[in-house]
Amino acid sequence: MTATQRIPFFPYSQLFTSQEAELLEVMADVCRRGAYILQQDCRDFESHLAEFMGVKHVLGVANGTDAIILGLRAVGIGPGDEVILPSHTYIATAAAVHMVGATPVLAECGPDHMLDAEDVKRRITPRTAAIMPVQLNGRTCDMDAIGGLAAEHHLLVCEDAAQGLGSRFEGRSAGTFGAFGTISFYPAKLLGCFGDGGAVVTNDDEVARRLVLLRDHGRNPDGRVIAWGYNSRLDNLQAAVLDFKLKSFPQDIGRRRAVASMYESGLCDLPELVLPPAPDVDPRHFDVYQNYELEADDRDGLKSHLASRGVHAIVQWAGTPVHRFAELGFQGAFPMTDAMFERCLMLPMNVALSDNEVRYVIESVRGFYGR
Ligand SMILES: *Cc1c(COP(=O)(O)O)cnc(C)c1O
Repeated sequence: MTATQRIPFFPYSQLFTSQEAELLEVMADVCRRGAYILQQDCRDFESHLAEFMGVKHVLGVANGTDAIILGLRAVGIGPGDEVILPSHTYIATAAAVHMVGATPVLAECGPDHMLDAEDVKRRITPRTAAIMPVQLNGRTCDMDAIGGLAAEHHLLVCEDAAQGLGSRFEGRSAGTFGAFGTISFYPAKLLGCFGDGGAVVTNDDEVARRLVLLRDHGRNPDGRVIAWGYNSRLDNLQAAVLDFKLKSFPQDIGRRRAVASMYESGLCDLPELVLPPAPDVDPRHFDVYQNYELEADDRDGLKSHLASRGVHAIVQWAGTPVHRFAELGFQGAFPMTDAMFERCLMLPMNVALSDNEVRYVIESVRGFYGR
């Protein structure tokens, strides 16, 4: 047995210290120019990200939650509308729907933990306006199934791709399938900044035009107020950091996929576990592993065993899917999601993990099951 190590779930300070000199230079450059709000660095980042994703418009906003709110407003979803989304998501997805005056309708997840299109179908009513798939854990939903359902029922597709940047389905980037998609740059996300940040992406020129107004007090490019709007802008300082980090993002994705492959080969023989799909097992999916969310027999026992070995594994959303927030008025049974939440656990997954640390995590999991 190796000596006990300390492996945090996410190493927040390493986000900075791993490239400290270069990042300080990027930030100093922005501040010396006094370029703080909606400046060239933000425009550069937006166009580089648009190129990376293969989408026409990227609009930086204050955070990933605002991105959903602004996107929904830009496509005209509001009071009287229902939006179907998975219960296995961050409260932000449902909250954004509520905050524009629409009703969040929850649906079950399937075996890969993603929104289940069959269950979505059962929840469509005459008031349904949109389906909001959540591109969770760095994987894109089966967008053929969801897109087909949406087309058949004349519904919009609005993607919460906060956890999906860089993932693809049939070659197409998460966030680019529907009316709009949203990204979060929260520090622990795939592409993280040093605070809050987000983006809305769209191929629709009119939606993009409305987003430009919505994020900056209804001001058009000439500075004239022509509509009601919010203050929800991506800080230029964060945009400059993100533009710098985007350059090495493909390597970061490669590293996450390599860590996922190590977990797969180190754990796939354990019958007590159900692992997430391995990289490339299904050629339609290109997964980027925002999280490595597995299912485990005696999940709580495994989690405490890992903690005693210094490995911080966590249950997503602190263990509570959205339908269990009773104070928010949700009702109904979600047996698939409930059963999944008895068993799900996320192992450390980030670009700072060394091969040795990954091997230590694998050894610790195997040890719990006596292997
Ligand atoms: C992080 C996250 C959000 C919200 O992003 P913020 O930038 O924190 O507002 C929304 N949905 C999902 C699925 C997320 O993981």
